[in-house]
Amino acid sequence: MSRPFDVVHAMRPGLLQLQSLPPLSLYVHLPWCIQKCPYCDFNSHEWRDNAQRMPEQRYIDALLADLEVSLPLIWGRPVHSIFIGGGTPSLFEPASIDRLISGIRARLPLEAEAEITMEANPGTFEKDRFKAFRAAGVTRLSIGVQSFNDAHLKALGRVHNSDQAMAAVTEAQSAFDTFNLDVMYALPGQSLADLTQDIQTALSFKPPHISIYHLTIEPNTLFAKHPPALPAEDDAYEMMDLITDMTSAAGLQRYEVSAYAKPGHRCWHNLNYWQFGDYLGIGAGAHSKLSFAHRIMRYVRYREPQLYLAQALQGEPLAV
Ligand code: SF4
Repeated sequence: MSRPFDVVHAMRPGLLQLQSLPPLSLYVHLPWCIQKCPYCDFNSHEWRDNAQRMPEQRYIDALLADLEVSLPLIWGRPVHSIFIGGGTPSLFEPASIDRLISGIRARLPLEAEAEITMEANPGTFEKDRFKAFRAAGVTRLSIGVQSFNDAHLKALGRVHNSDQAMAAVTEAQSAFDTFNLDVMYALPGQSLADLTQDIQTALSFKPPHISIYHLTIEPNTLFAKHPPALPAEDDAYEMMDLITDMTSAAGLQRYEVSAYAKPGHRCWHNLNYWQFGDYLGIGAGAHSKLSFAHRIMRYVRYREPQLYLAQALQGEPLAV
């Protein structure tokens, strides 16, 4: 039995007295990937059924039904950023992303300059869609490059290679005014020289924003079961120092733990999380944090994509 949204419950009197509500963002989760990476603990699922396409249109229907039933919780509040994450959102057709963004625009008051970020992976067929994603209304692309080194990409279980990564970044440069590269360090077998080469390659594309993450072994991943040999802790610290020096020499300013940006290119959506803003999360397993005059409420959607799909289409996306 799923829990419906109880707006009256959220609005009841309480000890908290908020004079005004914080800024509001929307997060949209698209949960499928070509293949599960061995380090990944996100709510992402391999689309295994080769005989059938991903249920794209039904999933967009489910997202819009989810948004529709959530509207009373955020009635009239302007939205300043949308983040379409995953999973691999760039597996969805541009026409589906267009329908999703148009459906959101029809239901929510988006601010005029709203940032709309979408995550993309550097596979060849995805790269060929970047311009169409821009035309669909995506304003900022975040590309999951992770490394430009073929051996390290293989060790990470990624489905792309370094040529595809470089081609995708070149395409993003021409299609978008602003974009982000996701890069990882402290990879299995990575030396300081390897990392220098990787960061040099990344910076040669003059990214307005770069996110650099330390590879961590999360519970319930393949890497947790079969841990790879990782650089020693001291080497990882040295790598962090190198990253700090190289990004700052390239004019990128660190503005949160893993994010570096040129002036005017900070990610509003990231900042909203850091500044304790509100977010409505729709899609499988998405989390929300919403403020009301007298309390802050948190919600979570069904995590398993097919269950979420069925529940959201019935207007009951909330997990108990
Ligand atoms: S592509 Fe990203 S979301 Fe998908 S499995 Fe790999 S790390 Fe996880």
